[in-house]
Amino acid sequence: MDFALNEDQRRLRTEIIEFAQARLGEQAGANDREARFDRAGWDECARFGVLGWPFPAEYGGAGLDPLSCVVAFEALAYGCADNGLVFAINNHVWACAVYIAEHGTPQQRKQFLPGLIDGSTIGAHALTEPDVGSDALSVTTRAVEENGQYLLTGTKCFISNAPVADLFVVFAVTEPDAAPQGRLSAFIVPASTPGVRVVREIGKAGLRGTPMGEVRFEDCVIPEDYLLGAAGGGYRLFTSAMEYERGFMFAAQVGALQRVMERSVAHASARRQFGRPIAAFQGVSHPIADMRVRLELARLLLYKVGWLKREGRMAMLEAAMLKLYASEGLVDSALAALQIHGARGYVEDQPIEREVRDALAGTVYGGTSEIQRNIIASLIGLPA
Ligand SMILES: Cc1cc2nc3c(=O)[nH]c(=O)nc-3n(C[C@H](O)[C@H](O)[C@H](O)COP(=O)(O)OP(=O)(O)OC[C@H]3O[C@@H](n4cnc5c(N)ncnc54)[C@H](O)[C@@H]3O)c2cc1C
Repeated sequence: MDFALNEDQRRLRTEIIEFAQARLGEQAGANDREARFDRAGWDECARFGVLGWPFPAEYGGAGLDPLSCVVAFEALAYGCADNGLVFAINNHVWACAVYIAEHGTPQQRKQFLPGLIDGSTIGAHALTEPDVGSDALSVTTRAVEENGQYLLTGTKCFISNAPVADLFVVFAVTEPDAAPQGRLSAFIVPASTPGVRVVREIGKAGLRGTPMGEVRFEDCVIPEDYLLGAAGGGYRLFTSAMEYERGFMFAAQVGALQRVMERSVAHASARRQFGRPIAAFQGVSHPIADMRVRLELARLLLYKVGWLKREGRMAMLEAAMLKLYASEGLVDSALAALQIHGARGYVEDQPIEREVRDALAGTVYGGTSEIQRNIIASLIGLPA
């Protein structure tokens, strides 16, 4: 077993960190305070090739293998202090573009992937509804087939990127009488479709650089060509894409785990009390040691998911374990970092309190921690 990155991956990691530290995140504090999406940062990332890392060269992507991909996204999140921008990118790549790359027809890929990869099209993923969250199979948004097209009606909420999105992947009921796992279909819905409206922007505690909204679809006419996968196959698409959303999106948590740890090391080494650096007190050094352990374990899980996908294998269990461990671990590390920074951890002009608020979201989006525990329990054979 070889745990080392190869030379290409090491070079990629270094180049991405240098890019992200030099070109991104300078306005992270202001973007957070003003809940501002960093479009300039988005465009920088698009030019650097970020949005196409996982996708084939024929559409403008880099065609990175899955293991190199998680290394790349971890490096981006480590180097970019604007977690909101990083989440907007991850959401676009792993909850929208990847659906089209994996399940789109050749025509759909040709039509939509180049814009998603060059950044001119911003993608979003619309599953959650006001009355449907964890119980995703109970979606009520309807798509009724009529003369070779679908009429889409319903409301989706907590949709990341919605206020700036050009394209939605939307889940709706097309087969109301089928068994729960065969009721849903997925659709590609351009935001310019008549009847699509972002009815409300939603403010939130963290990741404030990612805009979020509630979206209404009112009698939207969707051509049959925009059905993604088979009719009734929405749940199958969703579960297979969830390996990416839970497995690859959480590379960001691993990058943030390292950044938070390094900030804590720097502060604990520089800050002196009682005539010594505070790092000399076990009450300070042990929480930092715990941060290092979390980073190591989360990274091992992340690279295992990347390796499994590179080998063409299933990673449902590993992706759920990674999502659970990395998101909860980041909350623990960010809270410990706040304590180690004392008042400096709590005030607005330092990045630590923002790291805490940003970290909290990870235990909710992409399926809550409780749902990940349910999935893990069920995959190891416990009764549902
Ligand atoms: C920052 C952020 C970004 C998001 N982006 C998107 C997006 O782009 N697109 C999208 O479609 N959605 C998005 N969401 C919504 C997200 O997917 C849902 O919030 C999530 O699935 C949970 O649903 P809910 O909030 O309705 O909570 P609920 O399902 O109402 O759950 C409430 C509580 O009950 C617990 N619970 C529910 N069922 C069970 C159970 N069976 N066993 C144990 N505990 C249970 C949950 O774990 C949770 O603690 C986003 C959410 C956040 C916070």
